[in-house]
Amino acid sequence: MLIEYENFCLRVDKVMARIAAAASAAGRAPDDVKLLPVTKTHPAEAVIFAARYGLPAVGENRVQEAVEKQTQVPMTLRWELVGHLQSNKVRLAVAHFDRIQSVDSEKLLSLLDRAAGELGKKLPVLLQINAGNDPAKFGADPADAPHLLEAALAKPHLQVDGLMTIAPLSNDPQVARRTFANLRLLRAGLAARFGAPLPELSMGMTSDIEAAVAEGSTLVRVGTALYGVRE
Ligand SMILES: *Cc1c(COP(=O)(O)O)cnc(C)c1O
Repeated sequence: MLIEYENFCLRVDKVMARIAAAASAAGRAPDDVKLLPVTKTHPAEAVIFAARYGLPAVGENRVQEAVEKQTQVPMTLRWELVGHLQSNKVRLAVAHFDRIQSVDSEKLLSLLDRAAGELGKKLPVLLQINAGNDPAKFGADPADAPHLLEAALAKPHLQVDGLMTIAPLSNDPQVARRTFANLRLLRAGLAARFGAPLPELSMGMTSDIEAAVAEGSTLVRVGTALYGVRE
């Protein structure tokens, strides 16, 4: 069961207010931080709500689920993959997503580049970094990030927009904050070393929006605060 559209609008406004408050506390402009609604596990109406509201993109974490929803959503909006991508789903993912945020290996880079070339696309990607060194999370080791970025920048059919991370689950808010600070510093170092702008810093979810915005997030990926708890 999904919430009503009116309720969704109130929830978006609340999340926007959280972003704005955190941005202003950090001396940042509120519109430097974009909101990506994460519609995974929710029906296609969740995507339609986002489009009706005027949000330009949604995040999904499974390729097949997104492909099915796309047939049920009449509006044009951008689809971003935020979940782990298996090699055998690469072609389908490249055909159905506008950006892939979960690129964490050289193997995946090569497969994505080849598929994008075959489909005549230049595919925007983010490199997913395990900035909290969480054994339970996907993402490249921060120490491997330079190598991964160098490989990514050499791919003719990929465009590297920036970095993504997921904070470890913890009751201590400082854990998320430190994770996001790590990603911010990593991006600054990589941007300087490779002369790559890496404009996007995708970090922050329902429980850690404030910490992420404080540490420079440009894109928060929010599911629960917009659509309710997933079953
Ligand atoms: C599910 C998911 C989100 C949204 O999480 P919430 O806590 O529901 O806001 C964000 N990013 C990724 C990668 C996810 O898988």
